[in-house]
Amino acid sequence: MIQGIGASAGIAIGRSFVLPNWEWELPEQKIDVADFAREFERVYEGIRTSKSEIEQIKDDLRDVVGSEETHIFDAHIAILDDPVFMNEIQGIIQRQYKAAEVAVKEAIDHFVTMFDLLDDEYMKERALDIKDVGNRLLKHLLGAPEITLPSDTQPFILIAKELSPSQLAHINPKHVLGIVTLAGSTTSHSAIMARALGVPLVVGVEPKLPEPIQTGQTIIIDGSDGSLFIDPAEHIIDAYTELHIRQEEAKKKLHDIAHHISITPDGKTLELAANISSYKELEIALSSGAHGVGLFRTEFLYMDRHRFPMEEEQFEVYRSVAEKLGGEPLVIRTLDVGGDKQLDYFELPEEDNPFLGYRAIRISLDRQDLFKTQLRAILRASCYGQIKLMFPLISSVDEVRAAIAVLNEAKGELEQAGIPYDRSMKIGIMIEVPAAVMIADLLAEEVDFFSIGTNDLVQFTLAVDRMNEEISHLYEPYHPALIRMLQMTVDAAKRKGITVGVCGELAGDLRALPIWLSLDVDELSMSSHSILLVKERLLCTTQEDSRAVYEKLFGCRTSTEILEHLNGFMKAIDHKTANG
Ligand code: PEP
Ligand code: MG
Repeated sequence: MIQGIGASAGIAIGRSFVLPNWEWELPEQKIDVADFAREFERVYEGIRTSKSEIEQIKDDLRDVVGSEETHIFDAHIAILDDPVFMNEIQGIIQRQYKAAEVAVKEAIDHFVTMFDLLDDEYMKERALDIKDVGNRLLKHLLGAPEITLPSDTQPFILIAKELSPSQLAHINPKHVLGIVTLAGSTTSHSAIMARALGVPLVVGVEPKLPEPIQTGQTIIIDGSDGSLFIDPAEHIIDAYTELHIRQEEAKKKLHDIAHHISITPDGKTLELAANISSYKELEIALSSGAHGVGLFRTEFLYMDRHRFPMEEEQFEVYRSVAEKLGGEPLVIRTLDVGGDKQLDYFELPEEDNPFLGYRAIRISLDRQDLFKTQLRAILRASCYGQIKLMFPLISSVDEVRAAIAVLNEAKGELEQAGIPYDRSMKIGIMIEVPAAVMIADLLAEEVDFFSIGTNDLVQFTLAVDRMNEEISHLYEPYHPALIRMLQMTVDAAKRKGITVGVCGELAGDLRALPIWLSLDVDELSMSSHSILLVKERLLCTTQEDSRAVYEKLFGCRTSTEILEHLNGFMKAIDHKTANG
């Protein structure tokens, strides 16, 4: 077994097809001064053709994976339009008397090396974009054919050195069972697209490969743990075939409960909603029986592009999601960039503590122009479904009031222009900063609902950076302090009569279910793949039993003790259901 990195979950078993590398034969002879104009024109022509080809790919792809993934190709067009790229090419032609294709190749190599040297995953991914778009340009200059995948053979497992978004765009999931890339990371655009397409992907296997994979070998990959088998023994094929069948059956069986109401045996209804970050994820959410969307992380709309999305673009996305939900709730969270989420066209300051810095609502209140654009788009979309608005990272009453003041300005503008919006749209806040927990009673008087963001709440309560692997063992969601924080927040919401939900990762953790049932929260919002698993448990867990175990948690002094109780509770339910 070869251990790679799992980048898109699922098992694939089949024959390999090794994608040939782009390799170019470049002319060696120098050109004359008299040829400069002709060579420049060839580059311009190549850029024009490449751009229209990319536009075509965008159109084709939009129908398959939704509009967000296609923004990757906006980045490619931006590279072709970038004067720095063109100047570099022209400089090489003029100074070194080299032909257009040689100049393009050298310019690509120059930028790729420059970006690759940076100790930053994101910039390394940009190097891949430059290589990808540069290869397209070279292909046109040299009149080379596109490297295509076989479509008339049995479905295969694609093996590539690295897979560019352009190449992935051509992939038909019916022909490609799975993908292995020698290089790559889980955060690359290609990995994001593979997940969107539902194609298993294992990346980063090169250092572990004893010899190169050949076309036609038997391959097994498991995209959830990154394992790769080349020409495995019969018993391994059998074992994985069986596992694959079992996974598919379990998935199908779980889907039987997708449209059951989510209610405990003793009658407590707990709505299970989905966390999404794009329109395309909605399909998966709905097929998992999500009761609406409890968290739409809008920042992903702002990524993978080279400028802020306009009001109209945002409106279209919010409206499509609201319409698709057909009246089920849609909680739209305003922009939450900063921390670990950056925008390459918006220079955020270098900070020692970015999670404690210029981010989320702080940026929105500082850049009210951007904030108002987003609020206007959300307000306009509110006529097309049941939209609720949510502000992230709130730590004071002043912030809520300031955000609502901008919202009121946006409403006033729309009213003046005669543009309709839902006047009863509910306003909520994320409770994810300890200060917000401590003043939850005051905040509850300002808004219609709370949603507890446990991801940030854990990191801030325990002073443990959620990105720092060194101290990840200290990131304890079941710390006694957290249990008390949750209790305080829910108590405050209930006393003031507002609804309260949970949208951090803990909402989808099966062990936490008795906590939510006992606290009597109104909604859990989680990534779509957890919804059915949580629902399955909910259907056989009573609120009464949950209360009994929750009382014990309050007496616990450590997270280990808390987890012992919760694990014991899970086992007891398993035992009860197994025995009818
Ligand atoms: C959270 O902090 O729990 C949350 C849901 O927000 P994000 O993970 O986007 O910071
Ligand atoms: Mg958060």
